[in-house]
Amino acid sequence: MSVLTKWLESLHVETIITSKCTRARNRKSTCSYCLEQCKHEAIVFKEHLLVIDTNKCTMCGACMIACPLSGIEGLAANRVFEKGSLLFDHTYTPSLKELLIYKKRGMKLIEAGQTLINQEWESVVAEANERLTMLGETEIHITMKSCSEKLSRRALFGNFQTEGKQLAKSLTPASWQMEPDGWKLSKYFPGYQFFSVELNTNDCTLCQACFSLCPEDVFTINETTLQIDNGKCVNCTSCTDICPENAIQIREDLKRKNEREEMFQKKQCESCGQTFNTFQIGTEKCHVCINRDSEWLSPY
Ligand code: SF4
Ligand code: SF4
Repeated sequence: MSVLTKWLESLHVETIITSKCTRARNRKSTCSYCLEQCKHEAIVFKEHLLVIDTNKCTMCGACMIACPLSGIEGLAANRVFEKGSLLFDHTYTPSLKELLIYKKRGMKLIEAGQTLINQEWESVVAEANERLTMLGETEIHITMKSCSEKLSRRALFGNFQTEGKQLAKSLTPASWQMEPDGWKLSKYFPGYQFFSVELNTNDCTLCQACFSLCPEDVFTINETTLQIDNGKCVNCTSCTDICPENAIQIREDLKRKNEREEMFQKKQCESCGQTFNTFQIGTEKCHVCINRDSEWLSPY
């Protein structure tokens, strides 16, 4: 068995958009991270759902990495690791999120070839190092590879698009394959939050539409309190897309994890008689009765 064969393991993973996609759960979803990242227009609408056009997909993995819910499964075929180091490749630029995750998963270095790493990589590594410092982690370092090694590597990996998907699959070590949920920052930095969930309690009617759609269980409602676990939020936009009152905003906010608690009251609706929860002291009707058309159910 060659050194190469020992080092590399073959993977057979098709890139697919799974039912975790917000668009599969909510027709009003505006999530477009994957669409924005795909440079090959390989993500297309099929009715209200998104699918991957396998004739156009190069398996670069950009969509998969960008998806906040790890809703795309497959393989970032052009990411090449050697002994725990990510090899520089000018044909793509890794994302900030990606570098933070690789670092947390044990990436030791970024190895450049004999030519210097390009400006795009330098910028994203600098940004990643800034965030890593905020996260109490050590920085990512870049090293040069020797000339002979680089040439053999270039010959070896060349251009994945021309050499075909099967080769790309076979050249990525299985140890760097992502598990389900593998592209969620919240999984790797449990003590921190990357986003703040800002709920406007003047507008929120506690209708709970967002609670039921949030795939990360950010919201927990108890007898008289609503807890918001900012550390779990992945900014999937499910809550902001569904909220009829526009009462939620998600803001980028990297810091130590903070859990917010909001008190509410229990009341009896003066219109329908049902018990309801409310943040507003002066409200006497439940959100259903408030939003009901006054003409609706009218006998006249
Ligand atoms: S980024 Fe993920 S959740 Fe958003 S539309 Fe694409 S597949 Fe769906
Ligand atoms: S709080 Fe909103 S944006 Fe954050 S994970 Fe839940 S639904 Fe998505």
